[in-house]
Amino acid sequence: MKICFIFPPLPFGWTPVAPPSLEYLAALTRRADPSIEIELISASAMPDAVDKIECDLAGISILTPTAVGGYRIAEKLRAKGIKVVFGNMHASAMPNEAKSYGDAVVIGEAESVWPQVLKDFRSGNLKPFYFGEQIPLDDLPTPLYGLLGGRRKHQFRIVSTSRGCPYNCTFCSVKPFYGPKIRFRPIEHVVRDVGAIPEKMYINGDENIWWEGHEQRATDLFNALRGSGKRWMGFASLRPILSPAGKRMLHAARESGMLTAWVGWEAMTDEGLKAYGAKGKVGEDREAAVRTIRDHGIDVSIFYILGGRDDSLDDFQKSVELCDRLGVSMHPSLVVPYPGTKLREQYGPYLYRDMGWEYYNGAYAVFEHPDPGMMPEIREELFYKTSLQVLSLRRVLKHMVRIPGRAFPHAHLISLMSQIPIQHGYKLAYKKWRNEQEELREKRGAVGIEEPSACDSKRPDAGQSG
Ligand code: SF4
Repeated sequence: MKICFIFPPLPFGWTPVAPPSLEYLAALTRRADPSIEIELISASAMPDAVDKIECDLAGISILTPTAVGGYRIAEKLRAKGIKVVFGNMHASAMPNEAKSYGDAVVIGEAESVWPQVLKDFRSGNLKPFYFGEQIPLDDLPTPLYGLLGGRRKHQFRIVSTSRGCPYNCTFCSVKPFYGPKIRFRPIEHVVRDVGAIPEKMYINGDENIWWEGHEQRATDLFNALRGSGKRWMGFASLRPILSPAGKRMLHAARESGMLTAWVGWEAMTDEGLKAYGAKGKVGEDREAAVRTIRDHGIDVSIFYILGGRDDSLDDFQKSVELCDRLGVSMHPSLVVPYPGTKLREQYGPYLYRDMGWEYYNGAYAVFEHPDPGMMPEIREELFYKTSLQVLSLRRVLKHMVRIPGRAFPHAHLISLMSQIPIQHGYKLAYKKWRNEQEELREKRGAVGIEEPSACDSKRPDAGQSG
């Protein structure tokens, strides 16, 4: 028996980050049945491979912006008689939709049900839905590194050390999928997995690499990773930074090879944060926290969502000013009300009905805004202009000068190697967007979406991610 795991093409093409679900699903499969032959396809890196797939069962991992591509691949495979199982965040948030393109859907985390899926497939009794539980993370296998091929080599693997989040940001698709309780992996397992990565750099894939109230666990983890000889980056909350425990933790993070903290800024003011339910970020001196991280030799990059129904035109310019004031790099995107999130419920009446999932990638305005000055085309154009402003060569070089010297040369090289290609990609996307205007105007005719109901059976909270 042969199984093929597929990650459909990404909206902006190839990235140097290997899709983590493929190598991890390969490990789960190997553990459940070592006799199964496994092939992994990251379609962005291997565009021709999809047409040549020969296998008995295909597992397609879909996020919202890749869902349509995943459904197209499924149609081709099923025409060849290959059974298809969908999983990951979009399939979990929209199981009935996914099922209409496949033979089965894994809803939620796969670990608890994957051996049963394989068994049912072998006996010809694949069920339409499998409901994964949020289990303790004390026995996750090391991903099977080395199976991913392609013309262009992925340069970064993702290692997760925990799942879950206690906060309730309305736009977030992580929380509905992984649940409200933080579940940590044993530190020795994380060290084992980091050691197995073939590359010298990796990405920490946690929702948050350090949690308020768990600073000691983060410090212990970083101390244990100190001997890995590898450099890393990850998403970080600013909440615990200014406490004495936070500073000890930052020191340990730096010593463990941490180069850059990615920070979700979301909104400029506390009112804006409250509108998104992002209470975990309210009331903090966030700019002081950013400076403290940098004082400890770790670079900071800000992720900013713009164009929400409570945001104004000014916010685009304010985000650029923030980036200049702090001397950090920034990655803006337009707000996306992903299925399974609270924001999607709130924005439901205003969603453009004919804008499919392929537009849910952070570059399109997919809902009406109450301010007539924030027409969708204005928000989209401002998104491109803001992105190109913060990615201008002048700002990229200015940022490089302000990257902490202790992070030299790795953080400087990563900054340059990531921002210049992204700038080039955005220039091309901006040009394409200008040619799409007529098509977009047609799609923005009607608003208000009635979501297809989730599958009838009882299922865990579902979410998805972009
Ligand atoms: S955005 Fe971050 S802090 Fe907010 S709910 Fe999601 S994972 Fe938690």
